Amino acid sequence: TKFNTDNNHSHIQVTENCRNEKLAARLVAACPAGLYKFEDGKVIFNHEGCLECGTCRVLAGGEIIESWEHPVDGYGVDYRQG
Ligand code: SF4
Repeated sequence: TKFNTDNNHSHIQVTENCRNEKLAARLVAACPAGLYKFEDGKVIFNHEGCLECGTCRVLAGGEIIESWEHPVDGYGVDYRQG
């Protein structure tokens, strides 16, 4: 599995300030790549290493996740077996 990260654009946009701490904690626990942190009431996200599984969108779309798109062509995860 390889990653070609778009360093100029994150394909996922998140709300930094989150009042729903339970949802933020679930998001941190659910991301299989461990890309979310929740510290001092703020959601911290780094798109490097995203597996494009969509779990965060299903879990927190419209609340913490402001927008979710696949990376533009040529960027993102490249799975070894499809
Ligand atoms: Fe994590 Fe999957 Fe969301 Fe990427 S799409 S940030 S791997 S939960």
